[in-house]
Amino acid sequence: MIPIAEPCLGEEELKNVTEALKSGWISSKGKFIEEFEEKISSYCGRKYGVATSNGTVALHLALKTLGIGKGDEIIIPDLTFVAVANTVTYCNAKPIFIDSHPDYWCIDPEKIEEKTTPKTKAIIPVHLYGHPCDMDPILDIANDHDLYVIEDAAEAHGAEYKGRKVGSFGDISCFSFYGNKIITTGEGGMCLTNNEELAEKMKILRDHGMNPNKRYWYDVIGFNYRMTNLQAAVGVAQLKKLDEFVEKKRKIAKRYSEELKDLEEKELITLHPEMPWAKCVYWMYCILIEDKFGMSRDELMKRLEENGIDTRPFFYPVHVMPPYKNNEGYPVAEEISRKGINLPSGVSLKEEEIKFICNEIKKELED
Ligand SMILES: *Cc1c(COP(=O)(O)O)cnc(C)c1O
Repeated sequence: MIPIAEPCLGEEELKNVTEALKSGWISSKGKFIEEFEEKISSYCGRKYGVATSNGTVALHLALKTLGIGKGDEIIIPDLTFVAVANTVTYCNAKPIFIDSHPDYWCIDPEKIEEKTTPKTKAIIPVHLYGHPCDMDPILDIANDHDLYVIEDAAEAHGAEYKGRKVGSFGDISCFSFYGNKIITTGEGGMCLTNNEELAEKMKILRDHGMNPNKRYWYDVIGFNYRMTNLQAAVGVAQLKKLDEFVEKKRKIAKRYSEELKDLEEKELITLHPEMPWAKCVYWMYCILIEDKFGMSRDELMKRLEENGIDTRPFFYPVHVMPPYKNNEGYPVAEEISRKGINLPSGVSLKEEEIKFICNEIKKELED
């Protein structure tokens, strides 16, 4: 089976983990945590990094730190991983869904303003499947309406918007280092900010709310959202390879696009886009199976699986799932979600495998 993704771990990760283990610092103190925080923040051009146990709690920590609470409305894309909506709900706030942009699948900036109300407090743009959001209009709207921006860069380590790294925009940006993300720590996450006060507040809330100058004294109710030194040890080694991984992902995408270009010309599929202002990192290489293809997306996925090719369907739009069900229309997100599949995108994917996968897709057309 050609896997959809697999972590690429080597000697350096092993060496760092062994060092952490032998040092005895296996919980949330130890040299690798600060090193990882510093290196990720400087990679993205941010001042402060706060490492967390995973990407979901990074989002929750960001929302809590910005004071999001009951009655607040938070703008999020309808087509995203569900954790974004859930963390808003953990704060007793309400996620407000925005349809996708048809050309690049992320939140459509033109549809945000009509959904802002006096209750709106923040926007969470999500760089979906490695493609950056169109940040300028989002930041403009946030500025005009006095909203916070929390960037969700969980799927886009190393991506760029107009030459600037994602993870460097807005008030706080969040990353995930789950096993299938572009770099991994097993489970792990990070919040970045340029604001010292926010960084301090995040560190306090991450550590049960403990006053940094008075042990076991809690001025606020916090969480245990800390990353371990073992996770950070892996992260430090992974970060060194990030640029190499990004280049590999882009090369894989280029090969898929070349092999499948004729299908796009015949309007049978749509290839993973990259807007002129974007450097996409293709966390997952995606295609949309158009109606003209003549076989449903799900049927194609089944056939590919029978031939040893692992794929994934796109996320469901959040508004169709029971906890968030509403009947407002999100036609673009619905259509993209229905047609989209992720193809194998691991950095160790071989040239022959890409060719094989593309040939199998073409073969289904002929049958
Ligand atoms: C993976 C992911 C998360 C959550 O990260 P975890 O580390 O799995 O908790 C949040 N947002 C998006 C867009 C993601 O893809």
